[in-house]
Amino acid sequence: MFVLTAATIATSCGTQKEETEFQYNDERFADLQMLRYQVEGFDELSLRQKTLIYYLSEAALSGRDILWDQNGRYNLRIRQMLETVYTDYAGDRESDDFKALTVYLKRCWFSNGIHHHYGSDKFQPGFSEDFFRKALHSVDPSKLPIDSALVATAAANAGQADSKATAADPAVVAAVDALCDEIFPVMFDPALYPKRTNQADGQDLIQTSAANYYGPGVTQAEAEDFYLRMKEADTDPAHPIMFGMNSRLVKENGQLCEKVWRSGGLYGPAIDRIIFWLEKAKTVAENDKQAAVIDRLIEYYRTGDLRTFDTYTIQWVEETEGDVDFTNGFTESYGDPLGMKASWEGIANFKDKGATERTKKLSANAQWFEDHSPVDPRFKKEKCKGISAKVIVAAMLGGDLYPSTAIGINLPNSNWVRAEHGSKSVTIGNLTDAYNKAARGNGFQEEFVIDEQTRELISKYGDVCDDLHTDLHECLGHGSGKLLPGVDADSLKAYGSAIEEARADLFGLYYIADPKLVELGLTPNADAYKSQYYTYLMNGLMTQLVRIEPGNEIEEAHMRNRALVAHWVLEHAATQASGHPAVELIQRDGKTYVKINDYPALRDLFGKLLAAIQRVKSEGDFEGARQLIETYGVKVDAKLHQEVLARYRALDLAPYKGFINPEYIVTEDKNGNITDVQVRYGEAYDHQMLRYSRDYRTLPYINE
Ligand code: ZN
Repeated sequence: MFVLTAATIATSCGTQKEETEFQYNDERFADLQMLRYQVEGFDELSLRQKTLIYYLSEAALSGRDILWDQNGRYNLRIRQMLETVYTDYAGDRESDDFKALTVYLKRCWFSNGIHHHYGSDKFQPGFSEDFFRKALHSVDPSKLPIDSALVATAAANAGQADSKATAADPAVVAAVDALCDEIFPVMFDPALYPKRTNQADGQDLIQTSAANYYGPGVTQAEAEDFYLRMKEADTDPAHPIMFGMNSRLVKENGQLCEKVWRSGGLYGPAIDRIIFWLEKAKTVAENDKQAAVIDRLIEYYRTGDLRTFDTYTIQWVEETEGDVDFTNGFTESYGDPLGMKASWEGIANFKDKGATERTKKLSANAQWFEDHSPVDPRFKKEKCKGISAKVIVAAMLGGDLYPSTAIGINLPNSNWVRAEHGSKSVTIGNLTDAYNKAARGNGFQEEFVIDEQTRELISKYGDVCDDLHTDLHECLGHGSGKLLPGVDADSLKAYGSAIEEARADLFGLYYIADPKLVELGLTPNADAYKSQYYTYLMNGLMTQLVRIEPGNEIEEAHMRNRALVAHWVLEHAATQASGHPAVELIQRDGKTYVKINDYPALRDLFGKLLAAIQRVKSEGDFEGARQLIETYGVKVDAKLHQEVLARYRALDLAPYKGFINPEYIVTEDKNGNITDVQVRYGEAYDHQMLRYSRDYRTLPYINE
């Protein structure tokens, strides 16, 4: 599970000294801002550790095509068509059409497909079908996703290698036209596949989602029934595997069956490449346990067996000695409308030892936090097990963590593994840091925060409390509580992700105000938490709306969670007996602001909602989850939305941010042994994307 960055609440801190020449901000286009992150501490690692990170980085990049195909069955072909025109088009590259194609391609790169990475709406191309068709006819057809034999014959007829003549070959012309006829509606028709992941209550979520997790013709009812039967047939229901997590569910001859993502199966060529790098990584592991973890992952990739996957995650959780670590595999299920099938992601990282002291204090006191939480004792863990928490430095981001990324990760996702073996929780320090530094002085706080006093509070404590809230969310929040015996972990269905995120956020909000944190030296004083309360509510009630198009509702799980928490608290604060609401929305000079009147009373409300949400989760109360989310987490006040968008637009900021990766430059001796690994920054966004498409192309255009 991960917390997406709340980029819109990134604090701007004018008080700290200017940074060195490292450029955190890079290219900007559409609603996106590209950033760079620094791999601080890489130079201090041993050669063996650097080499391990290099191999794990290659493994993290090798699954890129999998995600593109998971996000939509036409994505790999569309990417190739766009990239070919982008690099080879000999027409007017200053024309509006070409410029619009450039922006569209950059957005697709960012989203790993043709739908928005966050809102999941399909991009509407700003160039014409006619332009794109002509452009495709003008480029070297051997680079297009059409039958290569046909192109080869045409080339032979034309006297080899003359791509102009080949492009004019009637058979090639017909093939390119057929390609356009098939693909263009997918790109240009707004009614076709409008959503990657549809979460609208009451619709068939599979049939109305473009995501490629279910084959053509599979309905939501059929899929739910298929997996229900599978669960009922489970021989070890106390230790359920993550049913359906690593496969596409398809219909063949009228029968439902799973196509498993594994070596020799669906996505096999990409998985084999990942295995190739993991095999190398194994040889330079920091210890035997770590080598065994990598080995088990390889076994899982070879077999696709989900029991092996559970064993792998247990070994991974229990390996805490090494400095270097990774996530590599089918991990998060936010992209599946049913929340079962996991998108592929990869990250290579190492421990930030200084900052990890912070999270160690939290995990060392995990039982204290569990015992003192405001939830019903029946839903508490009697014994908190193996919660390990650390702050890490990201060294490479891949798959669903690139370019848009999480700032904290807590894995594994299996409930029984978490209960019996614990979980690993990380805060990605160098990414948070990059967000904060890139946001300094951008005017956001001045526009939306109510007064100078509150801005000062945020300026002083915003960064430290944001980090701490992430730590609490990841290393304690997700790990806290338990399901009642017999409750199915999937019983909240499409509402499960948002409820789980709300639970973790509320755990963090409740405890960030606890005197215990001052006692542990984690917050500097008893007032610091107020900065987090203010920014959280401002985000949930107002500023996160900058990520929503006018007229749309809130769909993404983390955003629904924040809206739910903020609106529930706002409503319940208004009906408090004192008649003096703890928090309210006020108007001043035609602008809306969040006004907090009573911080301690807010803490009580967060505690009450945490108890309510924990009950819903522990009892698997689907109707309770639906009520909470649909009442507080989905709807948007159109008037306030318009106002927030206008104020935000005036600041000229990008609502979404993502990262360009560094490169690792390897030096080898004449025997092929690595003698040095250096990190390099500065690669341009388009260069990196084109390089990845060339060097990490692992899959055919069509994966059936
Ligand atoms: Zn989370």
